[in-house]
Amino acid sequence: MAHGVLFLVRTAVLLSVGAAHVFGGPLSVRSLSLQAKFAALNETVGGRLYAAGPWELPCFSEYNGTAVTPDEAACAIVQDNYTDPFTRVMHFGAYMMPQWETCQAESPNAGCLLNLSDPTDSDAFDGVDCQLGNIPSYYIDVRYPSDVQAALNFSEMTGIKLSVKNKGHDYKGRSSGKGTLALWVTNLNSISHSDSFVPEGCSTGYDAITIGPGAITEDIYEYADSINRTFIGGYHQTIGAGGGYFLGGGHSVLSPVYGLAVDRVIQVKVVTPDGQYVTANECQHPELFFALRGGGGSAWGVVFESTHRLAPQVTLQVASIGFTEHANSSNLADWYELLVNETYRFGTEGWGGHIVGPTIIYVNPLLSNAEANASMQAVVDFALGQGGTAVVEELPSYLTFFSKYVTLAEAVVGPEIILGSRLISTSLFDNEVGRTTLSNTIKSVLPFASPYIVVGTPFLYNYTVGTTSVTPAWRDSLWHLSIHSEWVWNSTVEYIAEQYTAVTQHAQLFRDITPGSGAYFNEGDVYEPNHTYSYWGENYEILRDIKEFYDPKGLLDCWQCVGWTGADDPLYECFVEL
Ligand SMILES: Cc1cc2nc3c(=O)[nH]c(=O)nc-3n(C[C@H](O)[C@H](O)[C@H](O)COP(=O)(O)OP(=O)(O)OC[C@H]3O[C@@H](n4cnc5c(N)ncnc54)[C@H](O)[C@@H]3O)c2cc1C
Repeated sequence: MAHGVLFLVRTAVLLSVGAAHVFGGPLSVRSLSLQAKFAALNETVGGRLYAAGPWELPCFSEYNGTAVTPDEAACAIVQDNYTDPFTRVMHFGAYMMPQWETCQAESPNAGCLLNLSDPTDSDAFDGVDCQLGNIPSYYIDVRYPSDVQAALNFSEMTGIKLSVKNKGHDYKGRSSGKGTLALWVTNLNSISHSDSFVPEGCSTGYDAITIGPGAITEDIYEYADSINRTFIGGYHQTIGAGGGYFLGGGHSVLSPVYGLAVDRVIQVKVVTPDGQYVTANECQHPELFFALRGGGGSAWGVVFESTHRLAPQVTLQVASIGFTEHANSSNLADWYELLVNETYRFGTEGWGGHIVGPTIIYVNPLLSNAEANASMQAVVDFALGQGGTAVVEELPSYLTFFSKYVTLAEAVVGPEIILGSRLISTSLFDNEVGRTTLSNTIKSVLPFASPYIVVGTPFLYNYTVGTTSVTPAWRDSLWHLSIHSEWVWNSTVEYIAEQYTAVTQHAQLFRDITPGSGAYFNEGDVYEPNHTYSYWGENYEILRDIKEFYDPKGLLDCWQCVGWTGADDPLYECFVEL
């Protein structure tokens, strides 16, 4: 694990740079006493307090206005691995969507980005001042609940805000934050299994896996496979499944049959913002457990471990169908229309998957191979008719599917990408009028972007009403549809603002045809209108009460989270004002 320079060694930097960051001004008597408080904190957390720095810094010769010596060898590693998630997760100062490392409101150059299309492009770093941007000033490499308790005390004492980072996949900048002290949970990465796990205070046992937030999804899949089980998780190798993923909902291509991550979690150990280390489940602290099942990352404290029901090893039918090289605006619109028309039936048959423009990768744990082929025939015929390819095959396990398909198809990291999304209601698929409305809406956005569609709602899952806090719209939808846009390393703040606005406007077309529905907290529009209703629906009122109970001093705040202080809070100075 690559760390920043040890805090105590960096005393001079703290005094001249760090304190200025925290207070936005020159060194003062107050910052001298702050220095002592930081030193005390460092001692309390066993020397695991670090000054943060951008991952890309070795390429630059200037840092926050001061000359520094570039390190060519280290820079080459950054350049070679700019889109490699496994490298990014190792560095505190790297995020999957690197715009969250930058102070977007001060763009261009309020960060330390390289040129994604050519990371060796010296225009991005020669004579450019690399800045800490939106990366937290300091972080604690969290190992024990007492680390978090010390940080909460420190925050209360100094007024310095906290942030929580795990693997850095957040689409809305909730794991970074200028001037914050971050709690980096990446090293809490244990994985264990019990075939008779009984949540504390309960009596029913489950076949379950217990994971630290820092355990990456691919490792969990491999572990589950090694004991002939299936873990229901996301479509990317390095997501921290026991962190933001499940806290916000957590969809999988197997969710249509096996439910969302919030449906499968049975116990969570968390340090709440009031400093308690709590074990929450259906039998003890049930209201907190409800909040942790979809109320969103970091608002409820810092999760140390979570336990999730496993599924047995499953044989899967996999349909990988597409016509990428032959796609055009006309056949793409027809393709989406065909998929809209087939989706209700697919839902009743148990299919889940992803639609990425002219390709689909779907899986089904319920059908035989003959049934899967028959089910997909119209889609296969369409793709082959465009000169494309089609495979409908049976694979022996989820891990086989993940290794063969997902590692090649998963979303790329490294671009400055943003999303706007909507849960598309069942009522737009189960009748002719609805289908026509949806197909026409998709057609109208194609000139802007091809929607990325996750067929990952818990359509067949037997849900117990009231057990999770995600918007109930998840239970009555068949698609989680997103529209995206992006910018580049040197885009202006005006251009960035235009992209945010355009995404919100295009997502609005889907909001308009799905009144009363919602959106996915983890993959939402940064500027989601009416976000409390979109993410939690009628659950928001109770969530706000639970938040006030566990965080009476408002020590943990994040963008559009439960109890959010709002965009005017100085904590959000790096978010673009639209
Ligand atoms: C390439 C890519 C693919 C994705 N695919 C999927 C998918 O298939 N299914 C899906 O549902 N989602 C998917 N997502 C979204 C993903 O689940 C969320 O971004 C998730 O929050 C990532 O968690 P993280 O720990 O990796 O990220 P971070 O950015 O480190 O954390 C995300 C949020 O969770 C909070 N948090 C993290 N750990 C803790 C903790 N221990 N305690 C309290 N709060 C914590 C952070 O403060 C932050 O608010 C994808 C995202 C990306 C970038």
